[in-house]
Amino acid sequence: MSGESLFPRLEPLLPRVRKPVQYVGGEGNSVVKPWDSAAVRWCLLYPDAYEVGLPNQGLQILYEILNEQPDVLAERTYAVLPDMEEQLRAHGVPQFTVDAHRPVADFDVLGVSFATELGYTNLLTVLDLAGIPLHAADRTDDHPLVIVGGHAAFNPEPVADFIDAAVLGDGEQAVLGITDVVRAFRAEGSPGGRTELLHRLARRRLVYVPSFYEVTYRPDGAIAAVTPTLPDIPARPAKHTLSDLDAWPYPKAPLVPFAETVHERMSVEIFRGCTRGCRFCQAGMITRPVRERSIDTIGEMVDRGLSASGFSEVGLLSLSSADHSEIAEIATQLADRYEGTNTSLSLPSTRVDSFNVTLANEFSRNGRRSGLTFAPEGGSERLRRVINKMVSEEDLIRTVSTAYAQGWRHVKLYFMCGLPTETDEDVLAIARLAREVVRAGRAASGQRDIRCTISIGGFVPKPHTPFQWAAQASWQTTDHRLRLLREAVRGDREIARAVGFRYHDGRPGIIEGLLARGDRRVGRVIERVWREGGRFDGWSEHFSFERWERAAEAELTPLGVSLDWFTTRERPEREVLPWDHLDAGLDRDWLWSDWQDALRETELDDCRWTPCYDCGVCPTMGTEIQTGPTHRKLLPLTPAAPLPTRAETASAAASS
Ligand code: SF4
Repeated sequence: MSGESLFPRLEPLLPRVRKPVQYVGGEGNSVVKPWDSAAVRWCLLYPDAYEVGLPNQGLQILYEILNEQPDVLAERTYAVLPDMEEQLRAHGVPQFTVDAHRPVADFDVLGVSFATELGYTNLLTVLDLAGIPLHAADRTDDHPLVIVGGHAAFNPEPVADFIDAAVLGDGEQAVLGITDVVRAFRAEGSPGGRTELLHRLARRRLVYVPSFYEVTYRPDGAIAAVTPTLPDIPARPAKHTLSDLDAWPYPKAPLVPFAETVHERMSVEIFRGCTRGCRFCQAGMITRPVRERSIDTIGEMVDRGLSASGFSEVGLLSLSSADHSEIAEIATQLADRYEGTNTSLSLPSTRVDSFNVTLANEFSRNGRRSGLTFAPEGGSERLRRVINKMVSEEDLIRTVSTAYAQGWRHVKLYFMCGLPTETDEDVLAIARLAREVVRAGRAASGQRDIRCTISIGGFVPKPHTPFQWAAQASWQTTDHRLRLLREAVRGDREIARAVGFRYHDGRPGIIEGLLARGDRRVGRVIERVWREGGRFDGWSEHFSFERWERAAEAELTPLGVSLDWFTTRERPEREVLPWDHLDAGLDRDWLWSDWQDALRETELDDCRWTPCYDCGVCPTMGTEIQTGPTHRKLLPLTPAAPLPTRAETASAAASS
C-alpha cells in the first residue's frame, strides 16, 4: 500500500467547496511521518465535520499517544461536507486524511470515535468514499480494520454489520495493545488473515468483535440470546479503565487549527468518571469510578499546553468539574498564576450551588462576567428526585441570587423534557421556576435588565443506565409539552422579556433513541437511510425524520418490530437488552433496583462521600475511586508574565 498523497488531485477541487481550509491540514502540532517508517498505521476518524471533530479530546489524545510510538503513524480524517462529497465522487478522489492527504483505505486500522449515534450515516459515507466495503463481511485482508470507540460504542449493535470491532471504555492503553497485536501479526506474515487478527484481538480482551457473537430472536421480537461462536473469547467483553490519569497527561500539545472550530481553546481533563448518579446520564454511568488528576499534573498540563499551542483560553473539563476534591485550590492558584495575562480560564460546570458561583468568580478574574450555566435538568422537585438530581428549588433560587448579586447578568438553566414519569405539570414548573429566578435576581441585583435563558433538550434513554428500560416519550408528547411551556413563559408579562427559551423539536430524539437502544436489525435502517441520502443527521438542516420513518417502516415491519417498539416501549426486567453482553462494570440488578428507586422517587447519594452502594463497577473492573485532596501545589507559583499596559507599550515604543 502506497500512502501516496492525494493532494495534487484534491487541490483543484478546493475552490469549488465551502470552507476548503478544513481539508488542507497543517495545523499547529499536527504530525506527518514518512509512510515507510511505520510498522502500524492508524487513521483516526471523527464522523462529523472538521469544525466539530477537530477539538475532540478523545481523538487528539489517541493521535498523540500513537504518534509518540517510533514505528507507528496516526493521521486524521473527518466527514466531508456534502459539497465536497459531490466533488470527490465526480472526480474519483477517495476519502483522504487531512495530515498528509493519504487514502484512508491504505491504513492498517481505521479508528472511529463515536460521540453520538447520529453520526452513524457519516461512517457509511466515509467507508464508501474510501472504497472500503460497507459490510465487514465483504472486506478482505487488503482493507483496514474498522474499530469504533467512544460512548456510543457501548452499544455498537446497530452498526455491528459495518464495523470489525469495538473498544469499550478508555482508549489510551487499548490502542497501544491493538497496535502491538497488529505489529506482531504483520511481522509473522499475517497468518490466517483478517479473521485470525480479529480473533487474536478478541482473545486478548482488547476489543469486542460482533461477528464472533450470534444473536437469536424470540417470536415476540425480543432477543433470545447473544452467544459467542468461538470458545476462547469472553462471553461478556469488558470495558477498559485507565487507573492512573497522572501517568497519561494527554494531549500535551493540542492541535491548533487555522479554520474556525466549535471550541477555540485548549482543554485539560481534570477527572474522569462521575458517581453523582444522575439516572439519565450515560456518560456518568459508563465512566465510573471517579479518577482524579492531581493538582500538580493539572498545573503542568495547563502550563505545557499553553506554551505548545498559544491558546488564550483553558477549559477544565470533566463531567462535573466543580466536584474535583481540590477545585478551590486549582481555581485560585490558576487565577493567581494567570492574572494580568491574556489567558482566560473556564470551568464548564453546571452544578447548582453557591460554591460554583465562587469558582466562576475566580475564573472570570481575567475576563467578562457574561453567562453562568446551571443544570437542574428537571422542572419540579418531584421529577428531580426521579432523576436523582438533588437540587431543591430553594438551593436553585439561592444560587442564582448569589450570582446576580455578584454581578452576573445572565443565568442559563438547562432542563430536559420527556423524562420518565414526567407530566405536563412537571414541565410547566420550569416556567414557574423561571419567574422565581427572575424575581430573585432582580431583588438581589437591584437591576431589572437581568436575563435568564432556559434551554431544553429532549431526553433519550441510553444503554447501561437505570433508564435503559424506560419508555421514551413520543415526539408528539415532547412537542406538546414544549408548546405549553413556551406559551406559559411568553404569556407571563412579568418575566417574558427577561427569559430566553431554547429548545429542539422531539423528532431527532426519537431517531437517536432508535440508534441508542437498537439491535443489529437497526443496521438495515441506517443503511437504507444512507442510500436515500442521509448525511449529518445531527445537523437540523440535514436531518429528515420522514426519511428515517420510511426506512424504519420498510426494514423493521417485515421483522415484526418497529420504530415505536425500539423507542416508546417500556422493557420488562428480564428482557435481554442488545447490550447486555457488553460489560460496563455496572451490576444489572443494581441498575434495575435504581430504576425502581426512580419510580419510587427515592434518591441516592454520591459514593465519593457516602459508603459504597455496590453498583458493581469497582469489584468487577478491579478499580477504585481515586480522589484527593493531595494538598500538593499546582505549580511553583510564579505568576506568568503580565501583559504590559498600554502606557508601558507606548513608552517602550517611544524610547526605542
Ligand atoms: S462500586 Fe461502590 S465505590 Fe465503586 S463506583 Fe460503584 S458505588 Fe461507587
